[in-house]
Amino acid sequence: MGKLLRGISKNAKFVICDTTDIVARAKDIHECAPTTLDAFGRMLTAGVMMASYLKGSELMTLKTESDGPLKAITVTADAAGAVKGFASDPGADLPRLEDGRYNVPALVGNGYLRVMKDLGLKEPYVGISELVSGGIAKDLAYYYFTSEQTPTVISVSVHLSPEGAVLAAGGYLVQLLPGAEESFITALEQKIDAILEITELLEGGMSLRDIAELLYDDMGSEPKKRVEDFEILEEKSIEYRCNCSRERFRKGLAALGKTELRKIFLEEKEEKLEVVCQFCKTKYYYKADDFKTFLED
Ligand SMILES: [Zn+2]
Repeated sequence: MGKLLRGISKNAKFVICDTTDIVARAKDIHECAPTTLDAFGRMLTAGVMMASYLKGSELMTLKTESDGPLKAITVTADAAGAVKGFASDPGADLPRLEDGRYNVPALVGNGYLRVMKDLGLKEPYVGISELVSGGIAKDLAYYYFTSEQTPTVISVSVHLSPEGAVLAAGGYLVQLLPGAEESFITALEQKIDAILEITELLEGGMSLRDIAELLYDDMGSEPKKRVEDFEILEEKSIEYRCNCSRERFRKGLAALGKTELRKIFLEEKEEKLEVVCQFCKTKYYYKADDFKTFLED
């Protein structure tokens, strides 16, 4: 189980999360190469944080489409803390950079980021912005600034061992509220430049509350003071979870229509049809019996 914490202060709202278990689960399901896992883990982390502002059955989908070896990543998250996704080419990999990091920007390349929110309205909300760095975090900050006019600091990181095992993953998202004071913005910018990556903080044993304290800690003050007080609004478990089911896929196949199903089962005499969920790799098998009403006259 991962963890997520959400809070607010006079000038900003924030989300902090530990997605170590989520990224490890994604690696197991999709058998990702390390560089893809780094990019995918960042997307899963961003998705679960962005979705923490949804309500009820609302859903959020993030999708990158780009010209690098990664091609595309899709991540879907909901208000309950479930997140899932898939990479179009999980085996895509690149040599590591000299400093040991995985070369996520080169794996992503140039392209677009799509943010889709299904808020239960007739049409989903779709925002599109250009990928500006390929590192995911800056791309999302750019998206928030251009599409939602919200100044945002977002950090997402994945720490993998040289063998590609997930050591830690997590992120934080800080968004300025309308009319945020200049002094708060300056303090926040200095703080972000000064602190370690969240994976290092988590590996150092810090809790999400400790990290919230660190973000709001007034660096110059002795004894320690906060830049401003904050309130924790929510603390919850998050996990990699797929809600697919046999019935859901059966309905999907039924949407192929009578002619197509007759062709498969009656003309081509297929004994069974296999469907694999792209999010969790569960396999479902269907026989002609499952579509009786379509195959009988
Ligand atoms: Zn599934």
